[in-house]
Amino acid sequence: MARKLPNIVITGTPGVGKTTHAEQVAQNLGFKHISVNQIVKDEGFHEGKDEELGSWIVDEDKLLDYLEATSLSETGGYILDFHACELFPERWIDLVIVLRCDSTVLYDRLTARGYKDRKLEENMDSEIMQVLLEEARESYKEEIVVELKSENTDDVEANVERIEQWVEQWKKNQEQSANA
Ligand code: ADP
Repeated sequence: MARKLPNIVITGTPGVGKTTHAEQVAQNLGFKHISVNQIVKDEGFHEGKDEELGSWIVDEDKLLDYLEATSLSETGGYILDFHACELFPERWIDLVIVLRCDSTVLYDRLTARGYKDRKLEENMDSEIMQVLLEEARESYKEEIVVELKSENTDDVEANVERIEQWVEQWKKNQEQSANA
């Protein structure tokens, strides 16, 4: 049976504003926000931490089994917030938002978080080389991947509104195809 609500991935380099956007969209639309990093940490879906980078080495099988056991693929209405996206099966995902940020803005956000040395460098390089945008484009159909700027609060407001409008349109399209 077709999902009644879409599932959305919000991805991008750490610090671009994934959590900020995901929380707001989830609250406004009543969607479930899944902070994937938090789940990996809380449920122990990892094989330890890369000490230099400070990020979890994710056990993708365990993570995907956990997500599979939710109602995500049947009901939709989930927002997956993660700094990677290729691991999520295409059939689960209806929209992929890639947030982008100017490097000076990102530098300030990451240093404010206490990132330094290799961890700071790797993340800055990743944003400059648009690693997440490429990953999204390689993993999903071109028309469901949307790149949005997240540099100031006006951007957040405009992006959230745009995502909400997209969800409305998606629902209309679903109804139409169900009635056709
Ligand atoms: P991520 O989840 O991608 O790591 P967060 O949403 O935690 O990013 O944002 C990192 C920091 O940057 C937070 O302090 C947040 O308030 C701020 N921030 C993120 N996006 C914006 C934005 N578009 N305008 C202003 N501040 C932002």
